This record gives sequence, structure tokens and C-alpha cells, in this order.
Amino acid sequence: MTAPPPRDPLTPPLLDAQGRTMTYLRLSVTDRCNFRCTYCSPASWGGKKDLLSPEEFERIVSVFARMGIRRVRLTGGEPLIRPDIVEVAGRIAAQPGVERVAITTNASHLEKLAVPLREAGVTQLNISLDTLSEATFRRISKQGDFASILRGIDAAVGAGYASLKLNVVVMRGVNDAEVSDLIAYAHARGMTPRFIELMPFGQGTPVPTAELVERLQSTGLSLVPNDEEHADTAGPARYWRAPGGRVGFISPLTQNFCGGCNRVRVASNGDLRSCLGGRAQAPLHALIRGGSTDAELALAIRQALGEKPEGHRFNEPGANKSLLPMMGIGG
Ligand code: SAM
Ligand code: SF4
Repeated sequence: MTAPPPRDPLTPPLLDAQGRTMTYLRLSVTDRCNFRCTYCSPASWGGKKDLLSPEEFERIVSVFARMGIRRVRLTGGEPLIRPDIVEVAGRIAAQPGVERVAITTNASHLEKLAVPLREAGVTQLNISLDTLSEATFRRISKQGDFASILRGIDAAVGAGYASLKLNVVVMRGVNDAEVSDLIAYAHARGMTPRFIELMPFGQGTPVPTAELVERLQSTGLSLVPNDEEHADTAGPARYWRAPGGRVGFISPLTQNFCGGCNRVRVASNGDLRSCLGGRAQAPLHALIRGGSTDAELALAIRQALGEKPEGHRFNEPGANKSLLPMMGIGG
């Protein structure tokens, strides 16, 4: 009997060790940031210069897209502090196979960039805003201009994005009393608020989602689970219906979302990480600079995904010890 021909490593599907199909790439385009959020950016983290060029991002995305990646999210650090972010986004959006390009941002540069990024092909923004109070913002982030965030959000609302989400990391005793106000703020602007359990990358005490939902319901807010929507998005958020719109909860600590994982990450130094809580694997940047072909890159990607763990282990004691800071991985 003759052996079957070797499979082209560039041909979809892109499967991981658990047989899950990867369709979503999270690309950290910088590990630098103009904010210093206490839960994300340790004081000792200096960041490095941006290592990958727009052409190198394009090359990485083109290989992933040929392998079956359909959605790309640009994150960081703060992606919009890259002077070439509009070019990076445009090159990625133009790749055959890429259906959606999204960005996660702290909004500080959106006042000038919301429209150019939309025109470059970005369709979705996740905007991080943990508080409506400048004094509380100052407790959370040592740097950053609060007024520019609010102006940036208004610019995004006016720029015609298909989806705008407001990400809130909830910290006990810091911003957990503001959850109702943040829901109202987001819904008034046509945004979907999402509340995230604090993961152990920096300072602060998390509030479990179940407690948050109970507290909201005890204020008289009607919150009805919407599991159909979850099945549709396959992301980590669970959505509920409130009178003003959807409310999402992302619960890495109390509702492990790893079972349906479809995502792969490339950190800002070009290292592929198959899991948010895992170690660096294929050094894609070094491979590109070393002259690897697309097929060789695809093989390295497949090999790394062959080691993708079933899930993260943030609940285990000392979970943060071996990890890069969040701003190097990109959330
Ligand atoms: N600078 C951008 C921003 O803040 O949106 C993008 C990068 S940031 C690392 C991506 C997301 O991770 C943000 O929504 C942020 O709130 C979230 N994040 C950072 N550290 C976190 C932590 N320790 N636990 C949960 N979420 C975290
Ligand atoms: Fe910067 Fe975003 Fe991290 Fe805050 S959460 S320090 S804005 S990367």
C-alpha cells in the first residue's frame, strides 16, 4: 500500500492538540503603552521597541489566513500608539480570507484615528474603560489623559463601526460600585458593556461574575441570560439581556471558557503563544527574518498548536509567576 501524500501545511483546517479549529488570531502589535493600569502593567515592565514591521505582520497574517484564520484582533500594549497602525490595519484587512479586523484600545488616540481606522477596514472596536470618575481612573492608571478617552469614545461612536464594546475590568473596592453607571453609559452610546473578572497579572481583587450579576439584579435591573448569542459568537463572553441592550460577562476565573477556544496569539515580539496562560512557542519573527518559506512558517505554527493545552490555569496558586505581563501578550 502506498503512503498518502504529505498534507500541505498551509491547507485548512488549523487544528490544535485537542482537535479544536483555530479561526481567530490575536496579534499584539506593541508591548508599549501610554497608560500604566495597575492590573496589567508592572512597574518593572519597560516594554521594547516595536519589533515587527507592517510587512511582517502582513506576512504572518497571510500565512494564518491561508490556514483558515478568518478574524484578526490587534491589541497590545496600546496598539494605537504605533505611528503606522493605520497601515498595519489596512494591510491585514486586505488579506484574502480575512473577514473581520478588530482592535482593542484604551481610546486615548481614537479622537484622531477612529475614522482612518474604519476607512482602513477595521469593523469592530473593543474599548477599555473601567470608570467614569477621573479620580478613580487615576487610581487605576498612573498615566493617561481621562478626557481624551471620553472624546475618543465619542469619535468611535460617530465613525460607523459595526460593533463597539466597552470592556471593564472589575476590581473590588475600586470600580465595582460603578457597574450600573457603566452599563447606562455604554447603552446610551449603542455599545455593549462587558465586565471582566480580574486575572492575576498585577494588582487588585477580582469580583466573581455571579456576585456581580446578583448585585445588579438586587438593584432591580432585569438581566436575562442569552445563551443563544453565546453559541453564535463562540467567544469567552456570556451575554445577558437588560432593558437597554446586551450586557456581557467574561469570567476567566469562575466560568472557564477554554472548551470552545478557537484562538491563537502572536505576542508583540513575534512569538506564537497557543494559550493566554502558556509559554512562548514558535518564534515567527525570527523565522521570517531567517528566510523561512510560508510552508515552513505553517509547519512551525502547526507544531506549536500541537502543544496547545486544554486551558489556562489562572486559578492555581502562583499562576502569574511564569507569565509575560498582560501588555506583552495582549489579553
Ligand atoms: N491597551 C488596550 C486596552 O487597554 O484596551 C489593549 C491591550 S489590553 C492588555 C487588552 C484588554 O486586557 C483590556 O480590555 C484590559 O482591560 C484587559 N486586561 C488587562 N489586564 C487584565 C487583567 N489582569 N485581568 C483582566 N483583564 C485584563
Ligand atoms: Fe495599557 Fe491596555 Fe494594559 Fe491599560 S490595559 S496598561 S491601557 S495595555
